[in-house]
Amino acid sequence: MRFLVSNDDGVLAPGLAALAAALATLGEVTVVAPERERSGFSNALSLDRPLRPVRHANGFWAVNGTPADCVHLALNGLLDFEPDIVVSGINSGANLGDDTLYSGTVAAAMEARFLGKTSIAVSLAGAGARHCGQDGYAAAGEMVVRLIQGWDRLQLPNRTLLNVNVPEGPLARIRGFRSARLGHRGRAKDVLALEDPRGREVYWIGIAGEPADAGEGTDFHAVSEGWVSVTPLQADLTRHDALQDVSRWLKDF
Ligand code: MN
Repeated sequence: MRFLVSNDDGVLAPGLAALAAALATLGEVTVVAPERERSGFSNALSLDRPLRPVRHANGFWAVNGTPADCVHLALNGLLDFEPDIVVSGINSGANLGDDTLYSGTVAAAMEARFLGKTSIAVSLAGAGARHCGQDGYAAAGEMVVRLIQGWDRLQLPNRTLLNVNVPEGPLARIRGFRSARLGHRGRAKDVLALEDPRGREVYWIGIAGEPADAGEGTDFHAVSEGWVSVTPLQADLTRHDALQDVSRWLKDF
């Protein structure tokens, strides 16, 4: 099995190395990742400048672009093979509910939709994930390996990606897998108003809101109960059950 691995925390992130090491037990791993952290870049593509891939001593490709750039480039010219699965992560921090709209981790997996194959975004969820030790990433890597080992039994529509969130902690504390829908967060925390060293006003965007729709069946709930949440996602944002209302409304124009 041939894997393409990317992330949004950058080519030097510990989660990326942990994921590459875990997948190397299953097959051949190629890493193409942003040269620096690009969390929150969603599906952005760099169209105003060229991308220059640089190969690091460990074999990882570093690109001066976004997560979506990396996968786009890898699948459209950089690599001379087609990977079987694209895996993005392991992100430092959860990508639950509405996070998925902003997440570069999810976007890297979504960019793989051109392959028409399933891809996986993996995040390490937990308040302390930013400071998580190698144990958490290793456990998340092991859970991804288990998912891929069961790959043959999975039947999904084309162009579907899996969003996987692993609760932070040692492997022994993880209860197993749960399929879950995306929950929703409440309003984001306030923007932080600051003053720069020269007395000018600056603002820092605050952290995401607290989970608001986080009951049973949601990804928030699964992870908070110690399960690995697995959510199938699609790029189609159409609100299908509102199409008829809009259609009826447009008839009178
Ligand atoms: Mn990130």
